[in-house]
Order: sequence, then C-alpha cells, then structure tokens
Amino acid sequence: MTISADTILNVHSIESFGTHDGPGIRFVIFLQGCKLKCLYCHNPDTIAMEGGEPYTVKALFDMVMKAKPYFGKHGGVTVSGGEPLLQAKALIPFFKLLKAEGIHTAIDTNGRILNHFVTELLDHYTDLVLLDIKHMTEEGYQYLTGMKNHQTTFNFAQHREKTGKAMWLRYVLIPGLTNKPELLQAMGTYFKDFTTIEKLEILPYHKLGVHKWEALGWEYQLKDARENTATELLEAKALLQPSFENISIN
Ligand code: SF4
Repeated sequence: MTISADTILNVHSIESFGTHDGPGIRFVIFLQGCKLKCLYCHNPDTIAMEGGEPYTVKALFDMVMKAKPYFGKHGGVTVSGGEPLLQAKALIPFFKLLKAEGIHTAIDTNGRILNHFVTELLDHYTDLVLLDIKHMTEEGYQYLTGMKNHQTTFNFAQHREKTGKAMWLRYVLIPGLTNKPELLQAMGTYFKDFTTIEKLEILPYHKLGVHKWEALGWEYQLKDARENTATELLEAKALLQPSFENISIN
C-alpha cells in the first residue's frame, strides 16, 4: 500500500493553540480510538474505535502550516488521543512532512504498542514522546486501565531510552491509588538512570471529565476518589526529586 499525503487519519478533535501537551504553543490533534479504558480518562469519547472524522495528511499539514507562525522557538505539533500510535502507519507521512518543514513533533502515548510502524515513527520523526506511566504494579495497572501487562510501558520507555531521543513522563496522581510513597519510590528507582527523560509531569487527579462519562452512559468508577491536597502534592514531588531533575505539577 502506498503511504502518501492522501493517507487518512481518524481525528476526534483539534486544538490550534494548545499549551498543555509538550513545550511552547502547539497544534494538538486528538486521534480517535484507544484500547485502554482508564478510570480517570478525561476524554472517554475518544476511546471508541468507531466515530471520529477522517482527515487526509495533506489537509492536516495545511492546517498546521497556517498555525506555524505561532509556534515560536519551542512549539510545534502534538498528536494525542485516544491512543495515537494505533494510527502510527498513517502518522509517518504526516510527521515526515512536518520534519521537512523543521516543525517540532510530539506524540502523547500510553506506550502499549511497539510495532515496526511505531519504531519508524518514533525513531526517525518524533522529537518528543510524552509517555503515560499509569501504575507501577500489574494489579494497579489492570485496575486503572482495564488491560493486562504493565510491562509494555516499561519496554516502550526502554526502547525510547535506547534511541537517545527525548521523552517526558506523565503520571496522574490519585490519593490512595497512585499517590503512595512506595509507588513513587518504585518509579524513581526504575527511571533514575534514564538519560532521555527531560521532565516528569505530575498531573494531579481531578474530576473534570466525569460529565463526559455520564454523557456516554458509562459508570464513573472513581466517584469516591478525591483531589490531592497541596501538601500531598509537595510530598509526592519531594519523594520523586532525587530521581528526576525536572518535575512539574500541572
Ligand atoms: S490511555 Fe489515555 S485516552 Fe486511552 S483510556 Fe487511558 S487516558 Fe483515555
């Protein structure tokens, strides 16, 4: 099959001036479809594989080029989701076009898929990977995501590390579920010697997505979870600080 600018990407939505998914001002494309069903997902309407809107790579590229003057030194394009790497094959020609224009590219992923399309996309055309660390234990990972094998995330991180290319880790901090000293210590121990991690982003849990779950007729199972206190956030950061040079609380 020929991969070209006519290749289709299945898009959930687009944010022209995003500031939350990577450095600087970014054109963020949320792709439709994800195999996980994280209990805290903010965009549960991106999970279904069906739905979304087809865009050609060329159409998306043209939109990005209009936004390019706003990217400045650090901005660029982030593809998020859903899980963007389910469409890795179609992202290759898109990122090739962007790199030919000198545009910074980022992928926001749960790190489940590492096939040859993914490695080609990441190793050659993706400047930054934003990798979600869901949980440090298998039991916790299964509870939070509905899928087995938390090791896939670590294999993914190991692959990125081997390529020497940049990544940020993202960790949703939920009191009693992911915000436990032993889990934070385990994360620090596992990642402390990685050289490609530029930043750890702590994402404090909040319930902003709950109404979307209700709109889908899905039960929101984290109803009893609460937000972190300011002290809990600072304590978590302090525990992680010896292992990560750069930590932000977003
Ligand atoms: S991996 Fe991301 S998009 Fe998929 S269910 Fe989890 S939070 Fe939602």
